[in-house]
Amino acid sequence: KDVSDRIAAGEVILRPASVVKELLENSIDAQATRIEVSLLDGGLKTIRFKDDGEGIHPDDLNLLCERFATSKMTKYEDLLSIGTFGFRGEALASISFVSHLTVTTMKENSDFAHQAYFENGRLVPSDILGASNPKKCSGVKGTTFIVEDLFYNCPLRRRSLSNSKEEYRFIIDLLMKYSIRYPSVSFSCRRLENAKYDFFTPSVDSELASIGNVYGKELTEELLEVGPLCTSFSFHGYISNANFSLRRPQYLFFVNGRLIEWQSLKKAISSLYNSLLPKGGHPFIYIDVTIDPHRLDVNVHPAKRQICILDEEYIIEKLLHSIETKLTMTSS
Ligand code: ADP
Ligand code: MG
Repeated sequence: KDVSDRIAAGEVILRPASVVKELLENSIDAQATRIEVSLLDGGLKTIRFKDDGEGIHPDDLNLLCERFATSKMTKYEDLLSIGTFGFRGEALASISFVSHLTVTTMKENSDFAHQAYFENGRLVPSDILGASNPKKCSGVKGTTFIVEDLFYNCPLRRRSLSNSKEEYRFIIDLLMKYSIRYPSVSFSCRRLENAKYDFFTPSVDSELASIGNVYGKELTEELLEVGPLCTSFSFHGYISNANFSLRRPQYLFFVNGRLIEWQSLKKAISSLYNSLLPKGGHPFIYIDVTIDPHRLDVNVHPAKRQICILDEEYIIEKLLHSIETKLTMTSS
């Protein structure tokens, strides 16, 4: 049983950045305003992830890493109205199947925090010294996850991830993107090797201010705002103008608050820019789409984290049209 759970977990958690993405989404759902990530060996050895969100009630720790345990779907109606992607109850379970996971959490107005240690989806009854699990400890409001020895029990996967610098870059890239979508949240990331902060964003009041902090002020001067309200969905974003090119393309697509890989949209936008930029430049694209959750199916394939949008073609067409209008309007 543990083996099949581990295989399922390995499809949700592909690398350290997948852990960070799941934890990020949970922290944002928990109304965190400050998220601090610390990494050893690019997250392969240790991911320490701290938020100041609402915390987890001690009674819920017992089932926290049970598969399909979620507090976000008490009723079917909730699933439709909640507007979040985080309702599968699979992330923490998956993480606990492929790592050593310690959770320390405290609700507001509690006198102390609780710390729990998980293995294979379960609370380990007690540690070697006989201390209880979960145990009380001092703390502050919020939740800290410590994920150690990722893929210790999946040697092939572990060996395939040998470049900790590359894993580190994946995580920084993820934090950069989320910090644009959530400008009021402060993000930081550092390596535990040297305790130096490599990435920090303060809480700011707009996406544009956050883009300036993360990608540089020069870029913000080249951006065009897009985002008329359509009838069936809404979107907002910033795209670089047709005379500007980055060294590497940046595509930031969010749907209902979650970063997604949207290959078909990426392709369409990229060929649009290619047709406008004779030299084939690389654009900066940040698009935040809000779709009625009824029209989304995020559960098609948990492993691929693909979403299925009804009327996807229609939405892409609308987005493209509005981008093209903006680009041609301003490039003449
Ligand atoms: P899901 O997000 O799909 O509900 P997860 O496995 O990601 O499933 O998380 C399980 C549950 O743990 C969440 O529903 C939530 O109640 C709780 N939780 C996880 N992370 C946090 C956090 N950072 N702060 C508060 N509660 C959390
Ligand atoms: Mg989640």
